[in-house]
Amino acid sequence: LPLCLKRQGARSLESDTDMTEQPPIPARKLHVAMVGAGLSGAVAGRALAEAGCRVTVLEVRPHVAGNCHTERCPETGVMVHVYGPHIFHTDDAQVWEYVNRFATMMPYHHRVRATAQDQVYALPVNLHTINQFFGQTLRPDAARAFVAERSQDNADPQNFEEQALQMIGRELYEAFFQGYTTKQWGCSPRALPAAILKRLPLRFNYDDSYFAHRFQGMPRDGYTDMVARILDHSGITLHLNTPFVAADADAFDHVFWSGPLDGWFDHDIGHLGYRTLDFERFTAPGDWQGCAVMNYTDADMPFTRITEHKHFAPWEAHEKSVLYREYSRACGPGDIPYYPIRLVAEQALLARYVARAQALSGVTFMGRLGSYRYLDMDVTIREALNTAGMFLRQTHAGTPM
Ligand code: UDP
Repeated sequence: LPLCLKRQGARSLESDTDMTEQPPIPARKLHVAMVGAGLSGAVAGRALAEAGCRVTVLEVRPHVAGNCHTERCPETGVMVHVYGPHIFHTDDAQVWEYVNRFATMMPYHHRVRATAQDQVYALPVNLHTINQFFGQTLRPDAARAFVAERSQDNADPQNFEEQALQMIGRELYEAFFQGYTTKQWGCSPRALPAAILKRLPLRFNYDDSYFAHRFQGMPRDGYTDMVARILDHSGITLHLNTPFVAADADAFDHVFWSGPLDGWFDHDIGHLGYRTLDFERFTAPGDWQGCAVMNYTDADMPFTRITEHKHFAPWEAHEKSVLYREYSRACGPGDIPYYPIRLVAEQALLARYVARAQALSGVTFMGRLGSYRYLDMDVTIREALNTAGMFLRQTHAGTPM
């Protein structure tokens, strides 16, 4: 290995380097392995290939794009989000430009409905939800005061439940969050970090957009096509159905690992917990539920939501529909990991794995699985670009990272 690379430690990927700065082309062609052809691997691989590296991408699955893989259903023609819905939304103009380089992004505005206690509501909780739920006709200020009366003072909420009670009060919490969250995470909301709820806004107007980001859209030809285009570069060789074998690491100047962090270490000090999803797929004539996502927030409904995939492509017309009933459960051996759990027990184990990863040289951990964080797609792209940029700068400078 070149000395500079030997000295490189594994990186955690929360860097804030500016991806616009083009690193200089390395003095000689480095050969890097990119393990995983999901968004992280594809984006970082492309950046390295464009800078002159030889990039070998090893993907264990038979397709690229990881969990954002899409595929047209042969029976209905509907573009199916095979591992559950992925909606692209960002405030990062450079990342938006990036995806538009590789895909035709179509207008898509994400809205979610929830079936709760025998009624259908709009999520995230907004003025319509509040008025409908409480049988009121409140204007914004009155609604704010009304919800404040019901919420529990708490300057420092310690968990999801405390955060929710402080934000929306018990009635709304029980209707929309308690059951859904228990099903989704398989534990009491009291055991979950408050940060999970912070993903969702509470609005005192009639805005029912799920995301407040400036840029939103769907790739016209699906995410798999977009990722395939990102990987389509003369410096990149892609191998599908190919697991990475640790013994092969020596064949490369550096390895970028977007598999599970604990997987790199053969889980030798324990498994980091994930939730996995089971999808019960069904087809139906016409429009089955009238929207892309219907959450089922009652605890006695065993699934969390139903997604109707043709509504993710509103510019297409299909007579038939493909739907997924989505069930969440603990991830076991052989299951596909989706959501990192990050409970207290995981945090301790995570810290041990991270310390070991940082002590390694010649390997960089990246992406949702490699960093054991729940990442949205835009953040994944931003971090992958930053990681590649940082690697190239360090390599060129010959200094340890
Ligand atoms: N959540 C909930 N009820 C809902 C929607 C979300 O309780 O109807 C909670 C749930 O714990 C979820 C979190 O809010 O994990 C974040 O929601 P988001 O829609 O961001 O979840 P995603 O499916 O994107 O992880």
